[in-house]
Amino acid sequence: PDTPSPGAIKALDGTSVHRISSGQVVVDLQTGVKELLENSLDAGATNIEVRFKDYGLQSFEVIDNGSGITPEDYDAIALKHYTSKLSSFTDLSTLTSFGFRGEALSSLCALSERVVITTATAQDAPMGTVLEFDRAGRLVRRDGKAARQRGTTVTVAGLFTPLPVRRKELERNAKREFGKALVLLSAYALVPCAQENHGVRLSVTNQPAGGRRTVQLRTDGQASTRASVSTLWGPRALENLVDLDVRFRVLPERAVLRRRGVLDGDDDTHANEVRVRGLVSKFAVGCGRAGTDRQFFFVNGRPCNPSKVQKAFNEVYRSFNATQAPFVVADFILPTDSCDINVSPDKRTILLHSEANLVQALKTALEETFAPARATYDVASS
Ligand code: ADP
Ligand code: MG
Repeated sequence: PDTPSPGAIKALDGTSVHRISSGQVVVDLQTGVKELLENSLDAGATNIEVRFKDYGLQSFEVIDNGSGITPEDYDAIALKHYTSKLSSFTDLSTLTSFGFRGEALSSLCALSERVVITTATAQDAPMGTVLEFDRAGRLVRRDGKAARQRGTTVTVAGLFTPLPVRRKELERNAKREFGKALVLLSAYALVPCAQENHGVRLSVTNQPAGGRRTVQLRTDGQASTRASVSTLWGPRALENLVDLDVRFRVLPERAVLRRRGVLDGDDDTHANEVRVRGLVSKFAVGCGRAGTDRQFFFVNGRPCNPSKVQKAFNEVYRSFNATQAPFVVADFILPTDSCDINVSPDKRTILLHSEANLVQALKTALEETFAPARATYDVASS
């Protein structure tokens, strides 16, 4: 009588629920790596090394010189919804750190073979502590003996082994998944320029099974956006780029509706100032049709995928150059309360308030910037 009949509705057990929701935070190799990198940035690291073994199939590891983790926190860091970054919910609208939901470490524990952390705070250094967690994020090993300067190393081995189908998928596409992770890391390598005075030295290596470790990407953290582009793609990549710096105002949806008389009430809302800074290719030389892996968008220094904004760039560019998509690095600097990064578990989707108005204003601003060049390009190409 206790066994439910086939097809009866039953509650999922806790482990399954945890594994399913974790799979939405860490959807692939690149989001796993991204979460670790963001934790390092949140910890104030200025030097970050990312090491892949066998393109991430065996393991990936992020080594930073950030604040380290204090011993009081050891037990809780990998438990679900544990975060040291958000003291109350009202903080969310002004939050500037990357993390705040306490889901990354717990998800990685649930979705991989093993998660090991070595950490030391300024007080602990040069002696670090090695921490190991089980699938439920519980601390199962704690050793007090490891030489460690201040900072944290997080190692994730055997990503997705608890989910055989997804693991197979990862193995089949290992190099492509690794490539996507590199593109994402490139975006973070450009962030130091997006966020002024925030220089981060980043290096990424891979060691294929049975092979030697090789550097995949390296930036020195002091560089301008231009210098980073040059380091990442070679000095020739710079020849075809022009500076992007436009400002415009965006009216909130509410205010527009009031002006049209659709909504009652006083027009009490202010327009938001938006500034967009970065680099974009000249019209004559885009980066091919499949240019989207060379398009990097940030909102207040945070890499994200604002698809409508991306589309706006491509459309305006297309009206000048019919065959190619542009190379873009664009950081949108806007008030923190006019965007919401908390809409998708992997935090890549961003909700921009009054997005339609923003996109329209952006297009106008881009057209104005590009218009003088159109004449030159037309002459040059005819
Ligand atoms: P969140 O970043 O949303 O707080 P995470 O699961 O990513 O959640 O991390 C949980 C906690 O572990 C963080 O709040 C932080 O206290 C600690 N932590 C994780 N990685 C690091 C790191 N590299 N350096 C210092 N502390 C870290
Ligand atoms: Mg985090």
